[in-house]
Amino acid sequence: MTPDLLRQYLEYFQDLGVTHLNIPLSVIAAHSSANPAALAAPLAMSTSPVTPLRETRVPAVTTTSKVKATPMDLPSLAPPGDSLTNIRADIGDCRRCRLCEQRKTIVFGSGNEQARVVFVGEGPGADEDEQGIPFVGRAGQLLTQMIDGTAAKDNLPLRREDCYICNVVKCRPPENRTPQPDEMEMCGQFLYRQLMTMRPKAICALGATAAKALLNSKEGVTKMRGNWHRWHGIPVMVTYHPSYLLRAYNAEAKKEAWLDLRKLFHFVLDDTKTVPE
Ligand code: URA
Repeated sequence: MTPDLLRQYLEYFQDLGVTHLNIPLSVIAAHSSANPAALAAPLAMSTSPVTPLRETRVPAVTTTSKVKATPMDLPSLAPPGDSLTNIRADIGDCRRCRLCEQRKTIVFGSGNEQARVVFVGEGPGADEDEQGIPFVGRAGQLLTQMIDGTAAKDNLPLRREDCYICNVVKCRPPENRTPQPDEMEMCGQFLYRQLMTMRPKAICALGATAAKALLNSKEGVTKMRGNWHRWHGIPVMVTYHPSYLLRAYNAEAKKEAWLDLRKLFHFVLDDTKTVPE
């Protein structure tokens, strides 16, 4: 493996939120002509906190599942000429992690494949698992209202069907629990490829799981929302997950989410702007 390829792998895992790899330095040294410490150093200096590469642990998995994720399988980086069709084909009838055990349907993503904006949620719920389409349950109906309503209020020519919508994990976590880090890592390779191949003008991270998967930030949504972040150079707006907004006491958060989407939509529809202000 060349130093450049190794670096790409490390940056790729960093983007997925991986902070620990149990690769002994001796193995890296054996596969690289470069000094492994020198390879790790620039990663440690980048904006996201990443543990410099050294012999260390993989995050513990707490479930007693028969299907074990294998976080050290090196997924391929986005291949040249990648497409959503290829990505879906590569997912196949996925058995890569324990989420396959109870899912009915793999929920890949839906919407306009040339969308200017991609919404990323956490993972399918019961309705999505039945129908194979993201955000079709109660939270999904609210998301539709949020998109259509925000755009309509400002006379912006944008509707849900103009956007692309997908999730960090493609299979429903049992009881709608939060996906575990190894599940996010495993499925994250497909989200990475989806976003890389679509390269939308902006991404909207819905809630903490999507924000963590894309930005690897330790901050909560309340702190991150409303401001622009970046994923591989693509502007990312973080806002509240619609499920959170469904709770009755969240009137203030609803107003904030509306402001976030407003900012997002004005940017993506303004052809004079390539960089948000
Ligand atoms: N919540 C999500 O995060 N994604 C869905 O697809 C549905 C609900």
